[in-house]
Amino acid sequence: MNFNFNFPTRLISGEGCLAANADLLKLGRHALIVTGRSSAKRSGVLDDLLPLLDAAGIAHTIFDQITENPPILTCHAGGQLGHAVGADFVIGIGGGSPLDGAKAIAAFVANPTIAPEEIYDPAKRIAPSLPIIAIPTTAGTGSEANPYSILTLPDGLRKKTFTAPESWPRYSFLDPRYTASLPVSATVSCALDAFAHAIESYLSAKSTVVSEQMALWAAGQIWPILAARPAEYTPAMREALLYAATAAGIAISITGTGFPHPLGYSLTLLDGIPHGRACAIFDGDYITYNARTERGAARLEAFAKAAGTDLDTLARELPALSEVEFSFTEAQIAERVELIAGAKNYANSPYVLSKDEIYEIYRAHFAK
Ligand code: NAP
Ligand code: FE
Repeated sequence: MNFNFNFPTRLISGEGCLAANADLLKLGRHALIVTGRSSAKRSGVLDDLLPLLDAAGIAHTIFDQITENPPILTCHAGGQLGHAVGADFVIGIGGGSPLDGAKAIAAFVANPTIAPEEIYDPAKRIAPSLPIIAIPTTAGTGSEANPYSILTLPDGLRKKTFTAPESWPRYSFLDPRYTASLPVSATVSCALDAFAHAIESYLSAKSTVVSEQMALWAAGQIWPILAARPAEYTPAMREALLYAATAAGIAISITGTGFPHPLGYSLTLLDGIPHGRACAIFDGDYITYNARTERGAARLEAFAKAAGTDLDTLARELPALSEVEFSFTEAQIAERVELIAGAKNYANSPYVLSKDEIYEIYRAHFAK
């Protein structure tokens, strides 16, 4: 039972962990803070962070233009700004969008002359990315614990993952208080995303003893909370969700994700469905198809047990929790399926969907 495991991110967790470890902020002289329009303020991170930077004599510039599903062009602009002000490290604050954006911007600051899509070309992206600190304000993507940066291409219709060896955050500060201001609906969507990471990782042929333990532990933390459908999330629930989402992020750093992820991308970009809900629509299909394979059937049983439930409940409740109800014409279905048909993730599930099956799944959910 061999396994390779490289986890270059130092995770620091707990209430007040930023102030208690302020020395770790000294990664350079000028921080480019990468965030969205409001999350860094609403979560309370900026109020905690800026005095610590001031006290350490570290200058900062705030780039707060990252929108959901970060566009590569916005990240390119952030890179130009970071280069112009002389930033020498990046602090990403927010949900998966700003954290993924921070990883791309860290590469663009170091390579200011490359065109946006040249970020994917290691021959053009010569200089290593700036060091990154991640401070998550959602409990979902696990971006704080992996090197993935999922960017929206300039056509606005497709997502493509960027990663570089230095895209792992150097430090990630996990303070559950920073997720307290996230509205209930977004909290559910993010928990669904983390749960999708756990199940998709656990079934992947690339799973290892480390990713499996992370995935199963995350499942056991997340499912009881999601299933209870709380009207409000207590601090204890938010803490459990944040650490579980990070664990699931470690799991996918080893395995990548399976087919609910690409199936959801079109609905997120074309129809505005939040990422976690868009994945959850297809979790029932994921369970049904994979249960037809030997590996899938055995793993699904073990996964449901770790989550404290049974497979039928998961197959029924996960899509129900997505609360997405749409109907599309055949032309709209074709438009969405064609955009996602080539994704690499399909090969990363025990049952590999054919394009015809992707059409079938889309029709079953959405045909008028
Ligand atoms: P998000 O897109 O980062 O944020 C969603 C919304 O929540 C935004 O309006 C954001 O505000 C707001 N928000 C965030 N934290 C808040 C807080 N504490 N209080 C109040 N509002 C808050 O959501 P996400 O689900 O975390 O990230 C989704 C992105 O992550 C997608 O682009 C997806 O592709 C990517 N992703 C990455 C990975 C990975 O492994 N790297 C895995 C899965 C998904 P602002 O506008 O101010 O930001
Ligand atoms: Fe995800």
